[in-house]
Amino acid sequence: MLLDQIRNIVGPKGWSTDADVLKAHCAEWRGIVHGLTPMVVSPASTEEVSLVVRACADAGVAIVPQGGNTSLCAGAIPDDSGKQIILSLARMNQIRSIDAPNFSMEVEAGCILQNVQRAAAEVDRHFALSLGAEGSCQIGGNLATNAGGVNVVRYGTARAQVLGLEAVLADGTVVSSLRSLRKDTAGYDLKQLFIGSEGTLGIITAATLKLHPSPGTLGTALVGIKASGDAVRLLAQLRKDLGEAIEAFELVSDPVFKLVTRHIPELTVPFDQPAPWYVLIDVSVGNCIERLETALSTSIESGIVLDAVIAKNTAEASRLWRMRHAIAEAERSAGPSLKTDIAVPISRMEEFLQRGDLLLAELAPEASLVAFGHVGDGNLHYNVVLPGDVSSRDRLTSAIYDLVYELGGSFSAEHGIGRTKRKYLPLYRGGGEIELMRRLKNALDPNNILNPGKVI
Ligand code: FAD
Ligand code: ZN
Repeated sequence: MLLDQIRNIVGPKGWSTDADVLKAHCAEWRGIVHGLTPMVVSPASTEEVSLVVRACADAGVAIVPQGGNTSLCAGAIPDDSGKQIILSLARMNQIRSIDAPNFSMEVEAGCILQNVQRAAAEVDRHFALSLGAEGSCQIGGNLATNAGGVNVVRYGTARAQVLGLEAVLADGTVVSSLRSLRKDTAGYDLKQLFIGSEGTLGIITAATLKLHPSPGTLGTALVGIKASGDAVRLLAQLRKDLGEAIEAFELVSDPVFKLVTRHIPELTVPFDQPAPWYVLIDVSVGNCIERLETALSTSIESGIVLDAVIAKNTAEASRLWRMRHAIAEAERSAGPSLKTDIAVPISRMEEFLQRGDLLLAELAPEASLVAFGHVGDGNLHYNVVLPGDVSSRDRLTSAIYDLVYELGGSFSAEHGIGRTKRKYLPLYRGGGEIELMRRLKNALDPNNILNPGKVI
């Protein structure tokens, strides 16, 4: 009955009950978590989303919003009941308008991130969100997770790229604040409620995005360092020398690059002697690449940097970035491991890494660390390959999270909570925060039909 109603709302192109299609939508990117669904519905407009949600609300059936399904915490996967309907935004992929003089664009939620970047570049503007999954993740999913990526050090997270938002509430009401203003203090800033709420408070259907001037040619360098703590010192030094020009600052350990070069043999680390750690840096220096060279020479003289390679052209720069972006893929092919997405204040990053080493030596001496991440934001994917069962992985995960918490950090910096990290949220969020989250959820979705079983 409900499924027939939905078929009538979205028409023949807007739904599927084909077993293979359902299976693909019910498996997360790493292929570890699976769920079941009776239907994938793909509305073509905000109005259709609203009608579908209202029909589901009347029938008391839960909805799992799904973007590009690249979540690394099973946020877009239904549970095993076989009753939750997946609502895919894939057909809502129109760039509605670009206002170049206002540095803004209005897009539908199902636009692939890379297409948004390209549309902005076509009018000589820059959309400043970039991550390894950008060829398949959607802007709606990026906003729902408040995604981070490699340019946060310069431009902030997804939240900072939004001027306005359109969302459908749990009863089908459409709330639109699709304004393109930099300043607007008229009432509560409602769009922020939905950003980072992982589809539990509303379904994002469109957004007005903030654009930046094109950063122009970037200087890209791969830098070898002795110890991970040197990355923090290098960042401070480069900030002093280059100011706000640092667009990306990514730490990668040697074992991680070894994993990548094993996975994609045509990629190589361009150093004669391997360094224990590397930092991949993008700097907007215009035509003045000498500024980057001088800054790195200073860091070599002061002993912070062992060696550095500056890309001579965009092809070399792309090769370096390909190594960075291939990490998730290489890790996936290497099999299951303990994966984290932690953040600590940058000033405590070195302490975290040192105490992390001690923790591993004590709790899992046979484990190997596979660490990389956005150290310019204090965010690290502190992953560990360890033999043993799930319980030993869980014990180590808790110990790492406890350490992060003690250092004033977060156990979930950019991927969200989804299904897999839900049990940890009450342990590391206090001060009335969980209670307020529950109150918000109850107020906006009293019957718990939007992405139940996720976040809280
Ligand atoms: P999905 O995975 O489909 O959904 C994610 C969550 O958002 C789910 O809870 C879903 O229900 C909800 N959702 C999706 N669309 C909507 C909508 N329109 N309205 C409401 N809720 C919605 N993440 C980072 O932050 N930084 C990285 O550097 C990064 N690198 C990655 C690299 C790789 C190779 C991969 C596979 C993933 C990476 N991720 C990264 C994780 C992932 O890409 C991000 O979380 C991304 O923002 C998810 O977008 P998506 O469209 O795939 O959303
Ligand atoms: Zn990341």
